[in-house]
Amino acid sequence: MRCPGCGERDTRVVDSRDLDEGSTIRRRRECPACSVRFTTYERAEAARLVIAKRDGTRQEFDRDKLAAGLRKALTRRPVPDQAADQAADQIETELRSGGIAEVPSSRVGELAMEKLRALDQIAYIRFASVYQSFEDLEDLKREVDTLYATRDDDGDDL
Ligand SMILES: [Zn+2]
Repeated sequence: MRCPGCGERDTRVVDSRDLDEGSTIRRRRECPACSVRFTTYERAEAARLVIAKRDGTRQEFDRDKLAAGLRKALTRRPVPDQAADQAADQIETELRSGGIAEVPSSRVGELAMEKLRALDQIAYIRFASVYQSFEDLEDLKREVDTLYATRDDDGDDL
């Protein structure tokens, strides 16, 4: 790290400590040439995750936007307040765990529907009807029939 005082390249670390539970490292450095002391911070840069949309455009993955979409589908459904945020976090983790910098928006949609389906079937149908834009009532009925067919047998009506 170059000295901000004299430009000397070879500065010395005199103190190093973890901040933010280890997500940041603060280092105190000293320049052997002019004795200036300065501080540097080291943080991991979150890898970029780009979503490729169906129309060919690309945009940075927006976790908050995804959470808002999930929250909207879950409006007034009997799920915990943080359900949408947790689902968005899980989806982001899954998308990032692939180690691929670019994923199709359809993958995000699939994961969102998967999470909603497990959370609340009405929310799932709400989201799917917008996301998949069912062509007609037949499409919608097929989806509902599938839900009934794969329903848990624990008697829970959700
Ligand atoms: Zn210096």
